[in-house]
Amino acid sequence: MFQELVQNSGFRIPNLVGPLDGASFEPMCVKNAPRTRAYVKIEDGCECRCSYCAISAARGPVRSKQPEAVISEVEGLYKKGTLEIVLTGIETGSYGADFDKKYDLADLLRELDARHSCERIRLGSMAPELLSDSFVSSVAGLKIMVPHFHISMQSGSDNVLRGMKRRYNRSMALKNIARIRELMPDVMLTADLMVGFPGESEEDFLDTMRFVREARLLDAHVFAYSRREGTPAADYPNQIPEQIKHERSQRLISECAAVRDEILSEVVNSGRSLSCILESWRGGVYTAHSDSYIEVCVEGERGLTGSMVLVKPLRHENGKIYGKII
Ligand code: SF4
Repeated sequence: MFQELVQNSGFRIPNLVGPLDGASFEPMCVKNAPRTRAYVKIEDGCECRCSYCAISAARGPVRSKQPEAVISEVEGLYKKGTLEIVLTGIETGSYGADFDKKYDLADLLRELDARHSCERIRLGSMAPELLSDSFVSSVAGLKIMVPHFHISMQSGSDNVLRGMKRRYNRSMALKNIARIRELMPDVMLTADLMVGFPGESEEDFLDTMRFVREARLLDAHVFAYSRREGTPAADYPNQIPEQIKHERSQRLISECAAVRDEILSEVVNSGRSLSCILESWRGGVYTAHSDSYIEVCVEGERGLTGSMVLVKPLRHENGKIYGKII
């Protein structure tokens, strides 16, 4: 469902790179402007050094695209008809950490909102600790900001998070999520979740299963830990057999589907309309995503791709809402 977001969230490791200290941001040109959603990379590099990831070494320190370049790229896409922009990076939430003057992701979002640079802004993966009270308070009221965050949570177990050398624990993540829901009542949350990290016990895994329900995740990209040569975790003891990783992945995917069904039932029962962008048409039916990233199917005549419509939800099936255009 949100493979695109994950692909743009930085979980890619290039094979050959040169030294990157002091490197600037690679310039990017947008030649094609999709009518529905476009990705604008605003940041590269990461200094977190998670124990399972080779990106810190491969991609170098944080380098952010200058705000005026981001604004011009976003406005260029909007002028050409793109309604929704996804701001991405290796660690999107670290945007601006390398600037001399204080200017961060919240400043960028406020500026894009004040200029009405596009209809909707969605963020690529955000680390839970960066979805802090101060960040969310600054952006919750912006018209441009969609009520959806994709969280690079990885695990709901503090033991595993410690082994991964992540910068948050379960309770910090849940506290930030509770604050997001307070400030953005219609928000939907999705996440990346990894199973089978070295040493992950059944109890650790169950912590992740419970996290899905406690955080009320609309969906998750579930993936199995894979050993990356040269990373600390590759040498950790208690590597998990592939069969257990597979079995845990399946159980977690099932739990995510069960929680999503409950959320979608509530959405249907609420009767509240969903603001959607029509994406693709087949046999008289459009596939769309709501601003909160719910997948939606609606009947409609050909030729409306790229239109923003309100949809009344009627029922849900297989993780999608079926509704009608109001
Ligand atoms: S935050 Fe961790 S997992 Fe993500 S790119 Fe940086 S080092 Fe890798």
